[in-house]
Amino acid sequence: MADRPARFVIVGNGAAGTTAAENIRKLEPAAEVTVIEDEPYPLYNRVALPPLLKGRVQERNVIMRKPEDHLAKGFTLLLNTVASKIDAEDQILYTQDGAAFPYDALLVATGGRTRKLAIPGADLRGVYLFQTLDETKAIVERILESKRAVALGGSYIGYELADGFAERGLQTTWIMRGPRFLWRLLDEAGGEVVHLLAQDMGVDIIYDDFAAELSSNNGAVDSVTTLGGRHVETDMVGYGIGNDLNVKILEGTGVEINTGVVTDACLRTNISNIYAAGDVAEFFDVVISRHNVMGTWDNSISQGRVVARNMLGANDPYDEVPTYVTTMFGSRLSVLGITPDVMGGLEGRSRVDLDTRHYKKLFFYEDRLVGAVIIGELRGRRKLVQLIRGREPLQGAREELFDIGAAAE
Ligand SMILES: Cc1cc2nc3c(=O)[nH]c(=O)nc-3n(C[C@H](O)[C@H](O)[C@H](O)COP(=O)(O)OP(=O)(O)OC[C@H]3O[C@@H](n4cnc5c(N)ncnc54)[C@H](O)[C@@H]3O)c2cc1C
Repeated sequence: MADRPARFVIVGNGAAGTTAAENIRKLEPAAEVTVIEDEPYPLYNRVALPPLLKGRVQERNVIMRKPEDHLAKGFTLLLNTVASKIDAEDQILYTQDGAAFPYDALLVATGGRTRKLAIPGADLRGVYLFQTLDETKAIVERILESKRAVALGGSYIGYELADGFAERGLQTTWIMRGPRFLWRLLDEAGGEVVHLLAQDMGVDIIYDDFAAELSSNNGAVDSVTTLGGRHVETDMVGYGIGNDLNVKILEGTGVEINTGVVTDACLRTNISNIYAAGDVAEFFDVVISRHNVMGTWDNSISQGRVVARNMLGANDPYDEVPTYVTTMFGSRLSVLGITPDVMGGLEGRSRVDLDTRHYKKLFFYEDRLVGAVIIGELRGRRKLVQLIRGREPLQGAREELFDIGAAAE
């Protein structure tokens, strides 16, 4: 790099982008770091959006940085600014308003965007995506004047909405295409535990069906008609039907794109000085020896740290075990390591206790523990993560893994 301070440009100020910016400055105080973000807020905690929706935390608890923090940490944060084009040859990033940012190293940490419903009525008042702080604030406003709500989608965002609506006391219907929540990950027993937990909260669940049309009264949604011909009256609808990763900015650069931005284990793309981290990175995962995309907060923070070192010249592979932990209908859910929704050919063994609403499933590959999903009591989780990280052959000892956590950690 040139002998003046190196110029680092980062697109996206989420968990990955902000962590990378702060770590670059910490490791190389002379570095010029510019972060470009299209939302109006400094880093906020997306994991805290469901508690905000439920009214358990205030907006001030969700915002994790103030603009002054960035000044103190010595990097420039440009909010409400859309990065629109990259000239990879001359190493310049352009924003939509025509500003040019020459870089020595560029990080794409743009995350993903929730897919929009494409059915009649999807744009009605009272119909919400659930990804950003502004969307969450709009949902909360609507909740306060509603009695009934419909949550659409059988994955994480769908259940967060159903959980939030129910906890706020709305009469809640949860509709999903699959035969159970997270049907690629949970088996029937796991699905049954989630069903009972949701039922305990008073949620009505419709499986194997989906919204075909949303109808309105004066421009605001008032009912959902399903593909199967059901009709559910409601005052609001929230949905999560999958994510598209924000890769458009790399079009025409020669950077390899698949589902996400393809990188090596060190989060470098195939074009020199362009890196990717967080949800948007489709990185070579040394834990499973193939490319992988993750969508967890911890993973985005850890990748932000690793990519910062590598943008400064290190050669560190990212080798963390993915972990997702969340509350769920008054219980807890944790997904660790590699699971069947990510990789086929895993052997799974589960234990379930419907009365106490506990479920644990462990996943094995070539005589190693590679992943787990736990609902209910999460004790023993850290030990399982250690075992997954250790990649030691189990030599048959599998059943006793279920007892980890029975004694306090
Ligand atoms: C409601 C909700 C609940 C969640 N709950 C959990 C949980 O319990 N546990 C867990 O582990 N994970 C959870 N997640 C997922 C977790 O929040 C994400 O994995 C993590 O925030 C991703 O961080 P990131 O930095 O990769 O991307 P993001 O946080 O998505 O940040 C990327 C930023 O880049 C901006 N951007 C994109 N394109 C451009 C552009 N061209 N120009 C300028 N800016 C751009 C975006 O607006 C965005 O702000 C949840 C997510 C949501 C939405």
